[in-house]
Amino acid sequence: MNPFTFTQAGDIDAALARLATPGVRPIAGGTNLLDLMKEGVMQPDELVDINGLGLDTIEEAPGGGLRLGALARNADTAYHPLVRERYPLLSAAILAGASPQLRNMASNGGNLMQRTRCYYFYDLATPCNKREPGSGCSARNGLNRLHAILGTSEHCIATHPSDMCVALRALDAVVHVRSQGGAREIAIADFHRLPGDHPELDNTMQPGELITHIALPEAGRYAGHSAYIKVRERLSYAFALVSVAAALELDGGKDGKIVSARIALGGVAHKPWRVEEAEQALVGKAPCHDAFGAAADIVLHGAHGHGQNDFKLTLARNAIEQALSTAARGTAHARVEQRGEQRDEQRGEQQ
Ligand code: SF4
Repeated sequence: MNPFTFTQAGDIDAALARLATPGVRPIAGGTNLLDLMKEGVMQPDELVDINGLGLDTIEEAPGGGLRLGALARNADTAYHPLVRERYPLLSAAILAGASPQLRNMASNGGNLMQRTRCYYFYDLATPCNKREPGSGCSARNGLNRLHAILGTSEHCIATHPSDMCVALRALDAVVHVRSQGGAREIAIADFHRLPGDHPELDNTMQPGELITHIALPEAGRYAGHSAYIKVRERLSYAFALVSVAAALELDGGKDGKIVSARIALGGVAHKPWRVEEAEQALVGKAPCHDAFGAAADIVLHGAHGHGQNDFKLTLARNAIEQALSTAARGTAHARVEQRGEQRDEQRGEQQ
């Protein structure tokens, strides 16, 4: 690990002043950054501890929706009563990620900023365009079982590793950032980027900017019919081969037509992948296998493997169908409540 200076910011203006200097990086939970520093992949001159900035609240937004503080921990976010009640898709996605210990430390802002887990990115002995632009991509003809099938470029086929961000994409979250120049909002669709000619850039944050919070628009219509399906090599503490965040708004319950839909994928691209044309194709249809399969085909249009990850084409299609079918049956906690109501009704009839 390179020698670096460690400072603590007392307020956000002090933090932004430090971050305006090249080579200075913020640290909150450090669950990815410290790994990258130990491996020598990232070598900041200074770390600014931002944990004391008071950006850890989760609260209702004035115009509806929710504000998730950038420094709120992933575990606190997943278990927050308002998140569980109104955004069960987000809660499920967060709890599908990492381990309890990591979720206790990892911040929401850090989750957005985490970097790919491509093996070569962490291996300084191998070429990697993301770590060292122009050096080449070892994964294209190497170990690429975990890699992308959509939105790749000749320079990089890495995936974004987050589960939380897949749900945020499905829910149309907005990332709020600040720098010394002022504040701005970035739609989650525009926050992460595809590799293109510059795989070294993971997102559209500018130097000196800091995430303050994530805004979630009101999404109550999806709370009763959502599902997060994560397919991975083992049951816990593994990154997604493919994950799907699915949500449906149904007209008149589980047998009704689809009013609107959301489908976002993880583990398949350099950013959470969403094709709104596929969601539109479901509108007005009955929630059935054929409709879900047709939507999956639209989502995966143009997908292709790189050898070891060819299996993801079939896996992703099946996962989309399963996530939509599960969502149609009702969000897990909603199904439990529904069974309780039916039981109460039956008891009432018997009395
Ligand atoms: Fe590097 Fe991207 Fe290639 Fe992995 S896929 S070796 S991160 S350039």
